[in-house]
Amino acid sequence: MPPINPEQELRSYYRALYQAWGAQHWWPARTRFEVIVGAFLTQNTAWTNVERALANLRAARLLSVRGIKRAPLPQLEKLIRPSGYFRQKAGRLKTFVAFLERSYGGSLTRLLSRPTHKLRAELLDLNGVGPETADSILLYAGNHPVFVVDAYTRRILDRHDVVPGNSDYEDIRTLFQRALAPIVDEEEHKPAEVRAELDSGIRGAAHPPSPMSMARRIALVQVYNEMHGLIVGVGKHYCKKATAACEECPLRPFLPARNQLAPPN
Ligand code: SF4
Repeated sequence: MPPINPEQELRSYYRALYQAWGAQHWWPARTRFEVIVGAFLTQNTAWTNVERALANLRAARLLSVRGIKRAPLPQLEKLIRPSGYFRQKAGRLKTFVAFLERSYGGSLTRLLSRPTHKLRAELLDLNGVGPETADSILLYAGNHPVFVVDAYTRRILDRHDVVPGNSDYEDIRTLFQRALAPIVDEEEHKPAEVRAELDSGIRGAAHPPSPMSMARRIALVQVYNEMHGLIVGVGKHYCKKATAACEECPLRPFLPARNQLAPPN
């Protein structure tokens, strides 16, 4: 049976996970463009593979709008090969920089300054950009207040009977956005020493602090940012596709009674 108040339920998840793990420092990147490249490369692969592809691009001095534009396609494919689907992804990166050049004179600042709904529609029109990639770019490169829904999010909500895992992307996104808005007040009024305590250490799916994770952003964007990172932590370490390590998971207290006796597998 779904929780009586799903929004309240999701706020409880945020509080429990943030209390357990603190700041997650997403997205690990030095620049906005690096976030965008990572958002394409992470499609259907693990982040460790993306890191290898990004390192190759950086070593070749091609991790920039101009770099991707000038790189011959075969070279680009070779460099990003560790991320899988490399031909498809190289084509998508080329498409993105061509769009940026054509519509915004190559300026990420101009692109990311667009109103959220217009920018989202433009990104979704590009080849190979689905809602998760578009929203990752909006939230993590552009600091737009848009929640990112991924496979981990769906799995956790499904196992906790919040919504079925095959629910519409937009329904899940708006549910999270409604649920998390009131958290902003709590975060803003949290005493500095409590924040410092919570923000120390690397737990969950946390990355070391990076220029992009430390960039200034409004509180709502920060809360969406953290919640997505915290959910990835649950999915990566406990709520896996084939097994669920509920006993150690910080979301165990919220698992519906019927699933506690027979954890999903
Ligand atoms: S591992 Fe268990 S308690 Fe944790 S989110 Fe998954 S189903 Fe819930």
